[in-house]
Amino acid sequence: MTVVRDYKAFKEARELLDGSVGFVPTMGALHEGHISLIKRAVKENDNVIVSIFVNPTQFLEGEDLDKYPRKEEADIKLCELAGVDILFMPTIDSIYFEDEMKILAPAVAGYILEGAIRPGHFNGVLQVVMKLFNITRPNRAYFGKKDAQQLLLIEKMVNDYFLPIDIVECDIVRDSDGLALSSRNVYLSDDERKRALAISKSLKRAGKMIMSGERSVSKIKDDMIRLLKESVDELEYVEIVDKALNTISTVQEQNTLILVAAKVGNTRLIDNLWI
Ligand code: AMP
Repeated sequence: MTVVRDYKAFKEARELLDGSVGFVPTMGALHEGHISLIKRAVKENDNVIVSIFVNPTQFLEGEDLDKYPRKEEADIKLCELAGVDILFMPTIDSIYFEDEMKILAPAVAGYILEGAIRPGHFNGVLQVVMKLFNITRPNRAYFGKKDAQQLLLIEKMVNDYFLPIDIVECDIVRDSDGLALSSRNVYLSDDERKRALAISKSLKRAGKMIMSGERSVSKIKDDMIRLLKESVDELEYVEIVDKALNTISTVQEQNTLILVAAKVGNTRLIDNLWI
């Protein structure tokens, strides 16, 4: 595995690759969720590039940019073990420039749900992903369903800007108790972690209601809200939308997303279920 930290070194390493390229962008502090994306990329491509970059432009003022977990050494080992060919860990200065061009999130889909709570967040996400796509020039790029709105907006960017990249949607990896893996889970105390389980439980219950025939979005939402409010400290949203992120009143087979965002203690957690 080659580890590179700026564009010039990356370009040299990239030129040596022969065959198809799969790309997995991450912010590091790698866990089994990230590894599942990397392993899938290794299986489906001749070469795999992983990037680790805690992207400052996607953090809002007052968010956890400074304390975001960083585990460089462990991450390098995990990538090596998983079969990564190039690990790109750029510095901020090698990615961003003075007075640079901007990619903007769509005015509607980028400012609802996560975008309403974190206005401008998706501008930063799409800006860095566009840069990383152009740097790495992958055939396929792998994203987790865990960040559902992010995944759908990246698919939209690829579509709207005619990027020749296949986006591969990867399933959410959970701990054995159901909690969706996240680099931010390390912020949770034991008590908070227990209370955070209400998030995945509420989604599981919603899934069961749908399996047994319930189609009313308001009934499912009410049930989830009741369960969540018993455990989380701040329920930011529970929404049931179609895969274009439009609100719906009836569950649609194969085209429904149930999304939750909540704070437990000071930690913001998101999770979702794809129907
Ligand atoms: P991050 O490092 O949080 O930016 O995540 C990098 C990629 O890993 C994104 O595509 C995430 O959606 C994905 N990811 C994060 N957590 C999980 C998880 N628990 N299961 C599947 N994918 C995940």
